[in-house]
Amino acid sequence: MSVKGTLYIVSAPSGAGKTSLVKALLEQDAQVRVSVSHTTRSMRPGEQDGVDYNFITMEQFDALIAENLFLEYADVFTNKYGTSRVWVEDELSRGVDVILEIDWQGAQQVRALMPEAVSVFILPPSQQELRKRLTGRGQDGSEVIDLRMSQAVNEMAHYNEFDYVVINDDFSTALAQLQAILTSQRLRLEVQHALHVDLLNDLLSA
Ligand code: GDP
Ligand code: ADP
Ligand code: 5GP
Repeated sequence: MSVKGTLYIVSAPSGAGKTSLVKALLEQDAQVRVSVSHTTRSMRPGEQDGVDYNFITMEQFDALIAENLFLEYADVFTNKYGTSRVWVEDELSRGVDVILEIDWQGAQQVRALMPEAVSVFILPPSQQELRKRLTGRGQDGSEVIDLRMSQAVNEMAHYNEFDYVVINDDFSTALAQLQAILTSQRLRLEVQHALHVDLLNDLLSA
């Protein structure tokens, strides 16, 4: 019996650890996939086109908007980011759980379209630690880091629009908490009912 996948929205200020947490989650959970966003920002060392992001030009991005191919898109920092509508809808209809790593503006758009989406906000343990992680990642210049730090408070101000909040202090604790959120959704009555219809019929037969 096929059940639609669950859509998860994961947001956080840049540097809070959402990419690392989602990557670790995918390594231990085969039932979930992450949507590869489109972006106009330049590639960081070590990033791969089509894997970390689909890296495109501003003109290509505008063309995708005109074709209505984005589920959501937003201006973040000085770049544009967007989620492929068709890929997300196909995976969900095949029963695969999908994670969107998107900013608060995208989260608002997706929530309006798909109110059943489950949203998680990841917070750093302190502003000081956030700056340390942004610097320690070693992939952005000091100007970019200053811009991201100044935007972090604006981003974090939206934490109360989310269903769940995870504080990424100790990494493995935060990962277990994220996994627990996925596990709890999979144990919901309607999901268990669809997955175990034969068992339930059997158990309830006279
Ligand atoms: P990082 O999050 O610090 O690794 O930096 P990125 O440049 O990868 O992402 C910057 C911001 O853009 C983050 O807040 C992401 O959540 C957001 N972002 C990434 N992809 C998307 C997307 O498809 N849509 C929206 N709305 N935001 C996105
Ligand atoms: P985001 O995707 O939210 O911008 P990243 O996943 O790139 O964040 O993490 C930013 C940096 O912080 C990376 O160098 C990562 O290794 C590090 N990091 C992530 N989580 C933790 C943690 N719990 N403790 C210490 N460092 C962390
Ligand atoms: P599969 O189910 O075979 O692993 O993946 C289906 C296809 O979707 C693959 O060709 C894969 O590259 C593609 N894909 C994965 N992530 C994305 C995404 O975010 N956007 C788009 N447009 N395609 C994706």
